Formats: sequence, C-alpha cells, structure tokens
Amino acid sequence: MKYPKTILDLIECYKKFPGIGSKTAERMALNTLNFEQNTIDLFCESLKNTRTKIRRCEICNNLSEDTLCEICKNTDRNKKILCVVEDPKNVILIENLGIFDGYYYVLSGLISPIDGINPEDINIDSLIEHIKSNNIEEVILALKPSIEGETTSLYICKLLENVSVSVSKLASGIPMGAEMDYVDSLTLEMALQNRTNIN
Ligand SMILES: [Zn+2]
Repeated sequence: MKYPKTILDLIECYKKFPGIGSKTAERMALNTLNFEQNTIDLFCESLKNTRTKIRRCEICNNLSEDTLCEICKNTDRNKKILCVVEDPKNVILIENLGIFDGYYYVLSGLISPIDGINPEDINIDSLIEHIKSNNIEEVILALKPSIEGETTSLYICKLLENVSVSVSKLASGIPMGAEMDYVDSLTLEMALQNRTNIN
C-alpha cells in the first residue's frame, strides 16, 4: 500500500531540498501531520511570500522585501568601501561579525566554465559599473577560496585594472575549498581584517 496522495506530494516537495533523500523526506512529511494549524498557516504563508514578497535590492542585489535592502537603506555606512560576495548568505555571515561598515555587492554565484557559468551570468558588468559610478575607493573580494572563487577574483581584478580603486581579498586562513558558512566566525573575522591587496 502507498501513502495517500497528499502525503506523497508532500514527500516529493521535501525531496526538492538539497541533501534531503526519500527517507528524510518521508519522516518530515509524517512529522508535518503533527503540526498545529497556525504552524501550517505560517508554512504556507512563508512559502508563498518567498515568491510574492522577496526581491533583489536594486542597488546591491541582496535579498529584500523592498526596492532597497536594509543595508543600502542605511545611509550611515561607509560609502567608499564595497564588499563583494557570491550570495546573500555571505552578507549575513559578514554582517554578524559586526566589524564591517561598508556596503555590499552580491554576485549571482561564481565563474565556473565547467558548469557553464560565465562572467555575464553573475552580474560582473553591473558590479564594475556600480564601482565606477559610486566612486568606490576599496573593493574587498570576499569570495570562497576555491578555483571558482579565485577565477572570479582574478577576472574582477582584471576589469578594474584601469579603475582607480584598491582591491583586496580575504587573507588566507580560510582553507582552500571551504564553504564560507562552515568557516568559524573568528577565522572569517581574521581573514577580513588581514585581507591582502591584489592590485
Ligand atoms: Zn542593497
């Protein structure tokens, strides 16, 4: 016998999350049956809102519910310094350190020719335009220490060759190939403070 269709559908939904296999999805679906009505409502509402309310900040490409994200709305930050990250998750990581007061620019991933991801796919042109038109003085490339991260850093650095801006990247200390969110906050803080100039 099979589970009723509603439960099978829910299992299929949970399986869409990366790293969630059939067994875990099944357990999650059965667990969902125990949720109170208000939790179910919150689930449904939040899921729908990800489509209808979440958008990209018009300045930095960060996740936002308004035209501008909370960081870009804050005019008290240092306008001269821009931290470039590969996704919105890393904005949160760096913000949580509480030591950076510049603005961010969120790329749409990293260059990875093997996966068919080229510079034009990750907003690099608009990043360069943003740096030029806002008279940014320092760019920190806070990208993952991997082949993709290095390739992206080098590419950006090359495009900024004739632009009067200092470019630095996070200091080593972050192991090669590490995912940024598994790096402990002290290592990330050290890497940000001891960043190395690359132009
Ligand atoms: Zn923003």
